[in-house]
Amino acid sequence: MKPFAYVRATGVEEATAAFAAHPGARYLGGGTNLVDLMKLGVETPGALVDITRLPLDAVEELPDGSLRVGATVRNSDLAAHPAVRDRYPALSQAVLAGASAQLRNAATTGGNLLQRTRCPYFQDVTKPCNKREPGTGCGALEGLHRDHAVLGHSGRCVATHPSDMAVALAALDARVELHGPEGSRRIPAADFHRLPGEHPERDTEIHPGELITGVVLPAATAGLPSAYRKARDRASYAFALASFAAVLHVADGVVERAGLAFGALAHKPWRARRAEDALRGAAPTLAAFEHAVELELAAAEPLRDNAYKVPLARRLALDVLARLAPPAAD
Ligand SMILES: Cc1cc2nc3c(=O)[nH]c(=O)nc-3n(C[C@H](O)[C@H](O)[C@H](O)COP(=O)(O)OP(=O)(O)OC[C@H]3O[C@@H](n4cnc5c(N)ncnc54)[C@H](O)[C@@H]3O)c2cc1C
Ligand code: SF4
Repeated sequence: MKPFAYVRATGVEEATAAFAAHPGARYLGGGTNLVDLMKLGVETPGALVDITRLPLDAVEELPDGSLRVGATVRNSDLAAHPAVRDRYPALSQAVLAGASAQLRNAATTGGNLLQRTRCPYFQDVTKPCNKREPGTGCGALEGLHRDHAVLGHSGRCVATHPSDMAVALAALDARVELHGPEGSRRIPAADFHRLPGEHPERDTEIHPGELITGVVLPAATAGLPSAYRKARDRASYAFALASFAAVLHVADGVVERAGLAFGALAHKPWRARRAEDALRGAAPTLAAFEHAVELELAAAEPLRDNAYKVPLARRLALDVLARLAPPAAD
């Protein structure tokens, strides 16, 4: 392993300054992804800036009724927090659907959002991969791509984003809080991750040196019916083949608000805007759900070996929607 410096920061400004002072620095959360990638030679940081002692480990109620989750809150604590379980059940379910209890005890909110793809070519430094090494090609495009994207991919990269948590955050209209050399800003969680386009080496909209300080769950989706469902090869300890998160508010017999997102179908959590538009104002019938999901998945362009993901995603979505709003008669 390449030698690297280690800095333990105790404050946000100290962490960003340490990052700026060390070429090739990376922030270290729980290390459950970064350290694995260092062992594989995929990540070769010049320094690790340990952020786990930062005062970002609380879940706090904000005056406007939203809930702020600090970036170093561990995944287990997030999933178990009473306010999260009660008001944002999709988030709690999504976090619990990921990894294992031991990993969730170590993994942090910020690190979960920034975990890298599980594409096997990305993880193998002997293979071509435009994400790891721009310009070398994409091994998965004509190779092993059963787990890869069916929506929004490009000729440069067909990887999917692996986080379960990020899918629920996108559906719940959460915002990601960032702090960096140019100050603080917030980005909608649904816009935080990127599609690959010509630059698959960039997973997200984060700027170099920016630190995720937290995630804000809005008052607008607090307490609304929400759920997450994931399909995978094993019942636990496996990444999603497809997943779906939904927030659905039905009032006076029509859908007033729908926040829908697919996971494991694209390079980012796929916010299903077309389906949302189709459902808003409609009666929650099975036909309306089928029409909305069909509209969204019509954009799918499966690869040679992953067409199965489209009907799988459709069934997951219809199951979740029917559970949240038992369909009225058509
Ligand atoms: C066997 C296994 C199975 C798994 N299964 C699943 C699964 O089913 N679903 C799922 O969603 N995940 C799964 N995971 C992934 C796991 O959720 C992630 O490894 C974990 O969430 C990463 O969090 P961390 O704090 O350990 O991040 P780290 O490994 O510390 O960091 C990850 C990245 O984020 C950066 N970073 C960390 N914190 C910040 C911050 N606050 N600001 C800016 N940058 C930051 C780091 O520099 C690094 O680039 C699995 C992991 C393993 C090993
Ligand atoms: S799909 Fe993306 S991550 Fe995988 S080999 Fe191709 S470029 Fe690399």
